[in-house]
Amino acid sequence: MLAIRIMQEQGIDVEALNFKTIFTCCQDQAGQTARDLGVRLTVVGQDDDYLDLVRKPKFGLGKGANPCVDCRIYMFDKARVFMEQIGADFIVSGEVVGQRPMSQKRRDLDTISYHSDLEDLLLRPLSAKMLHPTLPEREGWVDREQLYDIQGRSRKRLIELAHKYGLKDIPTPSTGCALTEPRFSKKVFDLIAAPDRGQRWDFELLKTGRHFRFDERTKVILGRDNCENDHLLYMHQLPEANSTAEFFPDNFSGPRALLIGPATTEAIDFVGGLLLRYSGDYNPGNALVRVESESDISLVRVTPNEASNQVRTLAS
Ligand code: SF4
Repeated sequence: MLAIRIMQEQGIDVEALNFKTIFTCCQDQAGQTARDLGVRLTVVGQDDDYLDLVRKPKFGLGKGANPCVDCRIYMFDKARVFMEQIGADFIVSGEVVGQRPMSQKRRDLDTISYHSDLEDLLLRPLSAKMLHPTLPEREGWVDREQLYDIQGRSRKRLIELAHKYGLKDIPTPSTGCALTEPRFSKKVFDLIAAPDRGQRWDFELLKTGRHFRFDERTKVILGRDNCENDHLLYMHQLPEANSTAEFFPDNFSGPRALLIGPATTEAIDFVGGLLLRYSGDYNPGNALVRVESESDISLVRVTPNEASNQVRTLAS
């Protein structure tokens, strides 16, 4: 918001880009903010190659599974393509030197500019005076004197600037990215350690349900409420689904589950035990579960078992 406002103060036309990944929160304020600032907004998603950064980041991870430097290079690479498509002259971002430990150290900013092939065309107005003058500054398209020398984690000067520019809804400093959350990251690390390292479908499911690992090739996801139960069913029906079977309590109330991996007798017993663990009202001698796979529908009698009772969720 501030970077855009600073450019507008200098009479420069701006188009805004908002990046979304499958790990970022969908309830952001980008649309409203763009309206408030009077700029056109384009939302950019990621392709499947983004997941390669998560599986094997070149520049390391933050405290969770967040490959922030690689991620920002990826974003700015997309921004460069967009810039060329619309005939824009350069790119500005709201990055501040030293504000975020994983991606905004001075060295990281240089790495991001270099590897996104933007170099001289990436201007950070909030910290510009701490960085080498970029082409827009050297050419006089932007007046460097009116840019800033903000650095560090304190938001004090940023909030002062927001007030100066009349910005009312100041967002929290949260990244809104699940990859930075330790609990979510545990599921990500589990997925990328599995033999096939997870496809997009598997990553998209990480936000839904309780996840349990049965063995190297087999994982189970249980819905935590009706909404998640329905979402599991939806994901299971997609052509790209990796799940091999879906489980429904037949004569008791409880969650639905998806099995990912071979539907062996042991795996089915394990899932059945999990459904009982998260159900309060089953008959211990006659609990039935419907198991639907691509080729078969069967009714299975299940009992509580040690493996299901003792396994911990991947996010706990
Ligand atoms: S917090 Fe998430 S979205 Fe933001 S740069 Fe890091 S990995 Fe990318």
